[in-house]
Amino acid sequence: MKIRELDKPAHTWCQHCTIGVGCGIYNTRPESCRVYECIWLQTQRMDKPIAFELRPDKSRVVIGTTNHGEEIVLYVSPDRPDAWKRGGFEKLVAELLSKGKTVWVSCEDKLQKL
Ligand code: SF4
Repeated sequence: MKIRELDKPAHTWCQHCTIGVGCGIYNTRPESCRVYECIWLQTQRMDKPIAFELRPDKSRVVIGTTNHGEEIVLYVSPDRPDAWKRGGFEKLVAELLSKGKTVWVSCEDKLQKL
């Protein structure tokens, strides 16, 4: 994700991230990092949490929103552009579409409506 305070563009590793370990400045991380919760994380507190296999570090897809939460965006890792077609995403996308949600796939600079 883009991090405004760090001038970090989207689709790049953060300079403070130690891959496989975590944030190197966790206690002083910017506000954007403190407040952001992807949809996967938000649902873990709910009755029907999204499956563990779809956790972003496992699936390579961050499930977010746009348009003030009205639309769903699957932010896909550029090194796995088809990650959103794997695992339980087909079921999840079908469920979202059946509820009338608009679902997008974002990979690098490309945006695709499903
Ligand atoms: S949480 Fe830490 S590693 Fe992740 S983007 Fe923020 S500063 Fe970088």
